[in-house]
Amino acid sequence: MLRVVVLGAAAGGGVPQWNCGCLVCRKSRTEHPELQSTQASIAVSADGDHWFLINASPDLRQQLIATPQLHPKAGELRHSPISGVILTNSEVDAVAGLLSMREGWPFTIYAHARVLAILRDNSIFNVLNEKNVQRRPIEINEAFEPALPDGSASGMEILPFAVPGKSAWYLEGKVHPGGTDGAGDTLGLRVSDKATGKYFYFLAACAGVTDDLRARLAGASLVFFDGTVWRDDELIAAGLGNKTGQSMGHIAMSGDTGAIASLASLDIDRKVFLHINNSNPALLHASPERQIAERAGWQIPADGTEITL
Ligand SMILES: [Zn+2]
Repeated sequence: MLRVVVLGAAAGGGVPQWNCGCLVCRKSRTEHPELQSTQASIAVSADGDHWFLINASPDLRQQLIATPQLHPKAGELRHSPISGVILTNSEVDAVAGLLSMREGWPFTIYAHARVLAILRDNSIFNVLNEKNVQRRPIEINEAFEPALPDGSASGMEILPFAVPGKSAWYLEGKVHPGGTDGAGDTLGLRVSDKATGKYFYFLAACAGVTDDLRARLAGASLVFFDGTVWRDDELIAAGLGNKTGQSMGHIAMSGDTGAIASLASLDIDRKVFLHINNSNPALLHASPERQIAERAGWQIPADGTEITL
């Protein structure tokens, strides 16, 4: 059985974002604390004892405190159920949490060579001593089985695949330490339980839905999908910034080419938005946008939501 815990569902900055006075951030600080959400990451386990994080958000420390499944085992002086971290991109909200895992517990980082190149290029990540924290390259379209700390099998098979996206925002206009070839900066994952054959998809960043991606996702029982913005220009329209969703590598929820329309006819049992920006009106429970999303079968999860497959 696969167990998945949504550690956080928000995009970069979280809800509320430290310097933001938008409607959602304001409400989350005052009368609606249930709107508060940490930055997107999930934990997954095939055996219930050993867990793998998919992305390590800057809120990881808070997420681990809030998640009993990830607490040290009773009676152990030093222990973590976390066996590894799988990175799907190198944005700050996907990798900064690694710095909160620097206290000497062994685990493995699985990431594309382009993402590993960025970690290598930023010396602060050397706090994760490579003797303890191995870095394993993963390849597009090559399934791998992450290992437990003793080298035994985790019972999960993970297939990384390329999705439309961008390299990390902080590299815009800079030389990418992984070279000029763009493939590998944004990955989707298919995570399956080897014992049962059940699987889910994880795409926290996706700039568009291609026919190939539609064919891949069709019939899935569970898909976590990029829910950054409701409409492409919402940050600009709200006076919050000058970037569109597309320019940040994210599809909108709404519109003819948005996530809701693009995945509507794919017979997916459970569709869950992740990486939802605080500017997105679908976060507000009573908003028309939320109703449209829910009527189309989408869920906007609270942090801590557990799903089993
Ligand atoms: Zn805000």
